[in-house]
Amino acid sequence: MNRSQSERLYEEALQHIVGGVNSPSRSFKAVGGGAPVFMKKAEGAYFWDVDDNKYVDYLAAYGPIITGHAHPHITKAIQEAAANGTLYGTPTELEIRLAVMLKEAIPSMDKVRFVNSGTEAVMTTIRVARAYTKRNKIIKFAGCYHGHSDLVLVAAGSGPSTLGIPDSAGIPTSIAHEVITVPFNDATALKEALDKWGDDVAAVMVEPIVGNFGMVMPKPGFLEELCRLARQYGALVIYDEVITAFRFHYGSAQTYAGLSNHEAIRPDLTALGKIIGGGLPIGAYGGSKEIMEQVAPLGPAYQAGTMAGNPASISAGIACLEVLQGAGVYDEMDRLAVKLTDGLSESARRLGVPLTINRIRGSFSTHFCDHPITNYDEAQDTDGEAFAAFFRAMLRRGVNLAPSKYEAWFLTTAHTDADINFTLEAAEASFKEITR
Ligand code: PLP
Repeated sequence: MNRSQSERLYEEALQHIVGGVNSPSRSFKAVGGGAPVFMKKAEGAYFWDVDDNKYVDYLAAYGPIITGHAHPHITKAIQEAAANGTLYGTPTELEIRLAVMLKEAIPSMDKVRFVNSGTEAVMTTIRVARAYTKRNKIIKFAGCYHGHSDLVLVAAGSGPSTLGIPDSAGIPTSIAHEVITVPFNDATALKEALDKWGDDVAAVMVEPIVGNFGMVMPKPGFLEELCRLARQYGALVIYDEVITAFRFHYGSAQTYAGLSNHEAIRPDLTALGKIIGGGLPIGAYGGSKEIMEQVAPLGPAYQAGTMAGNPASISAGIACLEVLQGAGVYDEMDRLAVKLTDGLSESARRLGVPLTINRIRGSFSTHFCDHPITNYDEAQDTDGEAFAAFFRAMLRRGVNLAPSKYEAWFLTTAHTDADINFTLEAAEASFKEITR
C-alpha cells in the first residue's frame, strides 16, 4: 500500500501543527511512530486516504460516528441548519428538542445544559458537585479517562490512601491533591478511600461501563456498592457517559439492560458527548433539578459558552438520535459484532495468538493477552508490541483501527456482512504475519 502522500503531509504538518496532529491520540506514537494516515473522505463504513487507499473504519472518530460517516439524514440536517445561520447566541427551539430527547432516554437527567465537548461536560459536573456539597475532593478510577481538564488528568497514586499526582505537566500538585484514584471494580478500595477522605469528597466519578482501557463491564454489584457508599458519605455520583450514552441501546449505561437494578445505580449527575452531536462538537450534562439549580443563571456555579447549543451541532444530534430510534439498529450492530469477535477469537486461537476480547453489544476491545481484563492494571499487562504489529498489518490490508491498545472497535449502522468478512480475512493474514 502506497502512503507517500500521507507521509509528505505529515512532514508538512509537523512544520505547523504541534506533533502534526490536533489530538495526541491521532499520532502513531503508541503503535511504533511514523506518519499517521491523512484521510480525505469518509462515507458509510469507509475512509479514503490522500493516496486513494480505501479502509473499513472501526475508529468511528473515537465513538461519535455510530451511524457511519456522512449519513444522509444527518448531512441534510446540518446543511439545513447551516443555511439558517450557524450561530445565534440566543436560545433556540432546537435546543429544547434535543434536551427532551436526552431526558426521555436518560431519566436521571431532569435538567440539561449543552456545552461543546465531553471535557467541558465532565469539568462542569465536578464544579456543580462541589458547589452542591461544598466539598472539594473527587474520587475517580484508574484508567478511566474523563477529558483533559486539570482535575481528571491525575494518575493513580500507590493506593487508595495516597493523593493523586498529576498525569500531565502544567497541573499544580495542589489540584492533583484534590483527586483520589482507586482501581475500577474494587469497592473495598473505594470504601478505604471514603473512610479516609469521605468528609471532603464532593463526588465519586466513574465511566459506568469503561471505554478507555478497553470495553470493561462493572462486576455485578459494583455500581450498586459505589452508589451506596458515595451516598453514605454524602458524596454525589457522577457518571461519565460520554462514550456509553446511546452506544449499546437507545439510552445510556445507567439504563442498559446488561446492568440490572437501575434505581440503585442511578447517578446524581451525568456527562455526555460524542454520539449526541452526530459528529459535530457537543457535550451535555444534567441531573436532578435540585442539583442542576446550582448552575448560573439560577445558582452560584458559573458555566457558559459562546458556541454552546449551536444549531448545527444540535441539529446533527437530533438527526443522529432519530436514526438510532430506527427498528433493530442496535440488534444489527450487535449481530455484526458477534460475528466479527467470534471470527477474530477463532482465528487467533487457531494461529496461537493470545487474545482476550471484551465485547459489549456493537463495541469491543482486543487485548493481546490470555487473562481477563477487569481493571486498568490488567489492561496495561498486555502485549503492546503485538497490538502495534497487528494494527499496522491491518492498516496495510485496508482496516482502520484506533492506534492504541486501549481503544475500542466500534460497529456502526453502516457496516455490512461483507465488511466483516473482509475484516476477518485481513485479521487472519495479520495474525499470521505477526506470529511469523
Ligand atoms: N469522557 C470520556 C469517557 C471520554 O472517552 C472522552 C473522550 O474520549 C471525554 C470524556 C472527553 O471528551 P472530548 O474529547 O469531547 O472532550
